[in-house]
This record gives sequence, C-alpha cells and structure tokens, in this order.
Amino acid sequence: DQPSGDATARITVDLDAIRHNAGVLKRRAGDAELMAVVKGDAYGHGLIPVANAALEGGATWLGVAQLREALQLREAGVTAPVLSWLHAPGTDFDAAVAADVQVAVPHVWEIEAVADAARRAGKPATVHLKVDTGLARNGAYGPQWPELLTAAAKLQAEGVIDVAGVMTHFIFADSPQHPSVLAQQEAFAQAVQDAEQTGLDLRVRHMANSAATLTGSNVAWDMVRPGIALYGLSPVPDIGTSGDFDLIPAMTVDANVTIAKRVPAGQGVSYGHTYVTDRETTLIDVPIGYSDGVPRAASSKGPVQVGGHRFTVSGRVCMDQFVVAVGDLPVAEGDRVVLFGSGDSGEPTAQDWADAAGTISYEIVGRMSARLPRLYR
Ligand code: PLP
Repeated sequence: DQPSGDATARITVDLDAIRHNAGVLKRRAGDAELMAVVKGDAYGHGLIPVANAALEGGATWLGVAQLREALQLREAGVTAPVLSWLHAPGTDFDAAVAADVQVAVPHVWEIEAVADAARRAGKPATVHLKVDTGLARNGAYGPQWPELLTAAAKLQAEGVIDVAGVMTHFIFADSPQHPSVLAQQEAFAQAVQDAEQTGLDLRVRHMANSAATLTGSNVAWDMVRPGIALYGLSPVPDIGTSGDFDLIPAMTVDANVTIAKRVPAGQGVSYGHTYVTDRETTLIDVPIGYSDGVPRAASSKGPVQVGGHRFTVSGRVCMDQFVVAVGDLPVAEGDRVVLFGSGDSGEPTAQDWADAAGTISYEIVGRMSARLPRLYR
C-alpha cells in the first residue's frame, strides 16, 4: 500500500476518512448545518480535495480565516456557501462580493468597508457579525458590539448589507466543565437577542468548534464549525481518542530510508551528538526534517514505525532528515518509515507527535510544508 511518487517523503490524505468524519460530525450536529473549517490549507491536508470531500460527507458550508482561501475555493469551482472571518484593513472586499463569499465582521470599520464594496458592485454583501464573548480575540468587545449592531442595522436598511448570522468562538471548549463554557453560551444568547432587538433577522447563529460539537450541549444553534475533528483528530485528547469519537485520522506521513549503516556502541548521532548509541546498532537515515514540518522539538522523542516496530528519533531532527537507531532489525535502503497515520496498523498518530513535541495535533498536521507532495486516496 505504499503510495507512489518520486519524492523521498510524502503526505497521503485519506479522503474517505474526511467524508466519514464529516458524516460523524453532521450526525452530532443534529438539525444544525455543518460548516467544514478548511483554513490553513485544510489544516495541512490540502484545501480543495478536502473541501470537496467534506461537502460529499455532509458539510453544507465551508469556513476559512482568510479571504484568499475563500477565493481559492471559488476559483476551483466550489459553489457551497463560504464564510471568511479574519481580515485586516486593505482587504479586497470587492473580490469577496464578486465571488459571493460571506464575511464575518467584528468591527464597524470592516462592515463599512464591505458595504462600500457592495455599493460598487451594485448588490448586497452577506455578513456574519462576530461577537467577543470572552476569548478577547477577533470579535466585537464591550461597546464595540452595540456599535456594530447599529451600523449593521443601518446598512441593512440601506440595502447594501444582508446580515445572515452572528458568531462567537469558545475559550475552553476543550475543558467542557470549565465555567467559561456556560458563561459564553449565556453571553452568546444575549448577543443574539441584542441583534434581534436591533431588527436583524438572523438565519445562522453559530459558536461550536470541534470540542464543543463533540462534548457540548445546546451549542449547535443553526450550524457547527468543527475543524480538527474533520481531520480525524481528537480536540480533547485528555478526554477521548479519535476512536472514542468514531473519527479516523486522515493524514499519513511517511518516508523511505536513504541509507542504513552498522555502527558500534558509543557512536554519537546527528548534530551535536545529543544521542550516543549504547550498543552496536543499525542506523537508518530518514529523509524528512524540519523544513518539511517535522518539529525539531521532537528530537530524540518523535515516534516512528519501521517494519512493524516502533522506534524513536535518535538525536536531533535536521532540516531535511533525521536518524533512527533500529538495533538489529533488518532495514534496507528504500524501506518505508511511517511518522504518523491513522494508528490502525500500529503506527504513531499526529497526537503522539504532538505529545513528543510538546504541542497540539493541530500544529503537527498544519505545519507539514508544501515541499512534501500530497497524495490522495
Ligand atoms: N471557528 C473559528 C472561528 C476558528 O478560528 C476555528 C479554528 O481555530 C474553528 C472554528 C475550528 O476549531 P477546531 O479546529 O478546534 O474545531
């Protein structure tokens, strides 16, 4: 089952897993719609193939951070509703209006910029209002919220803005018992009421990321917005694994051994000789490194699978390669080394690499670089 490709290392994305995970999330969402969050090149999995697979699996919306990502979806022929939610002054909202991309706005400057674009286009722009219920990030905070509502109502009356929805984002969805979870739900309900009292007729109220979708109650409103779970990774690894939530990790990263060599005990390995062999062993060189996205922080810690056995990176991860001491296991040039995958065949998972590198699985998959070819099955 080794993927083809002339590169020495690669990413393989299982689109059936994406479809399956979308179906699981849609069932969790009940009557609410499923927005597949595909920002960051679909968390490193590849924007267009993942977006299409998610739509096939039950998603009806796509969510991205940057307008550029939304436009890429449109250029690829994706016609589903797309919401883009993070913009700075200078953003080309004309392009958003022309491409029917909905934009989430947290501030008066932004809804006015979108309205200007709508006036130029001669058609209304659809927006979602972003309210800050405690994350203290990119949402309207304190008096910014009523200011935004007033501006939105005025622009809607003018016919240049169509306010479709209101959204917020959780601080601690991955700790479902945290008191802020309920506090944010109450604050969001109040913000929805404020908007309705301003005369806005909301169609899509949404707040739930993966963790909230999988563990929360009364969080779905009209739509859920999961990202990491779509890729089959648990948003709450302390509470449950992917399998516990019936999710299938979609990304596999593997590489082929470039050289194997027999060395005696006492051989220092890789830069700085931070690892020294404690007995005679075979060393294998694995041609994937931090330039490909393998975290250098996982030096001497990152797990791999070779010939059905688990080993750990020996010494420092380099820019293009790392070394593994495999003892007496017969390993030859060209043999396959799996960094992570679904875990079904005993290989490590992205979560294992996250644990090894002291980070979260989001960063492990999301940082895999464009140098690695992406293959789809
Ligand atoms: N909604 C917003 C606004 C986000 O920024 C993100 C990603 O961080 C998500 C939803 C999806 O979050 P997760 O990947 O935790 O499901």
